Amino acid sequence: MLTTTTTLETNAYQVALENFDLAADALDLDSNLRAMIKYPERVLSVSIPVRMDTGQIVRFEGYRVQHNTARGPAKGGIRYHPNVTVDEVKALATWMTWKCAVVNIPFGGGKGGVTCNPKKMSMGELEHMTRRYASAILPLIGPQKDIPAPDVYTTPQVMAWIMDTYSMHMGYPVHGVVTGKPISLGGSLGRNEATARGCYYTIVSSCSNLGIPVKGARVVVQGFGNAGSIAAQLLHAAGTLVLAASDSTAAVYNKNGLDIPQLVLHKQRTGSLRGFPGADAITPEELLSLECEILVPAALENAITGDNVRAVQARIIAEAANGPVTPEADRVLAEKGVFLIPDILCNAGGVTVSYFEWVQDENHLFWDENDVNAKLEKIMVRSFNDVYKIHQERKVNMRLAANMLGIGRVAEACKMRGLYP
Ligand code: NAD
Repeated sequence: MLTTTTTLETNAYQVALENFDLAADALDLDSNLRAMIKYPERVLSVSIPVRMDTGQIVRFEGYRVQHNTARGPAKGGIRYHPNVTVDEVKALATWMTWKCAVVNIPFGGGKGGVTCNPKKMSMGELEHMTRRYASAILPLIGPQKDIPAPDVYTTPQVMAWIMDTYSMHMGYPVHGVVTGKPISLGGSLGRNEATARGCYYTIVSSCSNLGIPVKGARVVVQGFGNAGSIAAQLLHAAGTLVLAASDSTAAVYNKNGLDIPQLVLHKQRTGSLRGFPGADAITPEELLSLECEILVPAALENAITGDNVRAVQARIIAEAANGPVTPEADRVLAEKGVFLIPDILCNAGGVTVSYFEWVQDENHLFWDENDVNAKLEKIMVRSFNDVYKIHQERKVNMRLAANMLGIGRVAEACKMRGLYP
């Protein structure tokens, strides 16, 4: 089970700070510059009273964090989950800063979240909560200031409600205030698949560098939402064998490979992977320890920790999720020779196409899907090569290489702007 705990090992924000220090040391950043870019610029905490369908008022807590805006407006998703904490949102905002810099798009890092269980809420309750949350964070957001997007358990519909709430306040339609919107409201073709597609391009690049044929490679996917299920579909279409997949309710396995299109239909029909015909039920722990070429954690933070990392038998770990591997697990994976594609590179396809969406909204001119995918591939392959080069030349692991690239670019931007004393 993935749980939020308060130990140093699994507090996501402590992990983000620890990884920052490693990269800052490797870059030899001086202490003044570290103080400028390590911590969030703004942390807003809001109270969201919502009248539930029963008539009772329930108060939810929400956050919006802007970590760093030296390279452009803050950019980052909004998460609805029972385990959302301010530390988690701070960690996710920090990673967004480095991620936007790794793929070299002109955004800083932000993130939002509401501590709630959207699975137990009606559509009406979700809409009321979303609109109230949007009003509460309204002073921070805007197309030139901070642009939210979907994350865990938030959808294009949630983005549409935020766009509408913001637009009503301004008195005219403002499409560029959020990305990941429905196509009918200025969303971009290819955005829904972008996180998984970007992850797929980094997997293909890794396989080619490691001499692993993609066709026939064995794949395991943890998490079967936007990132995980679409990554599974792309990898299945490329001829890999997706042996196992899981969601928050079940894990399923077939040694000859799952029929992924059928599994997607089963999840759509029943809301769960449970009971999928033609597959055996396994435990979440068994899933992570399956022998495979490619393991894709695509759920939440702290999936692979000091406790379970020794059982991992994958050759490549592609972090579609943010923060799925803890620093202690990183060290063990490096000893085992596992090749890790770090989150701030692996899942950066989402924010890259969010950037394309924002550019299209601001210019009122929309691109076709092939254009979006071709531009995404170019950015992902170039970014992979940039990180891989640092990994090879500096003889550091891929996470440190990606952090050095991202943090180095943010530090340089701060210096050039004169934000540096
Ligand atoms: P989602 O809400 O679409 O899906 C989340 C999935 O994770 C669901 O299938 C859920 O059942 C599963 N899950 C939850 N707890 C689990 C557990 N304990 N074990 C196994 N599965 C579990 O969310 P998403 O957008 O796919 O986000 C997944 C991850 O990808 C997150 O870490 C998110 O921050 C990251 N990410 C998403 C985007 C994006 O554009 N959506 C972009 C970058 C990174």
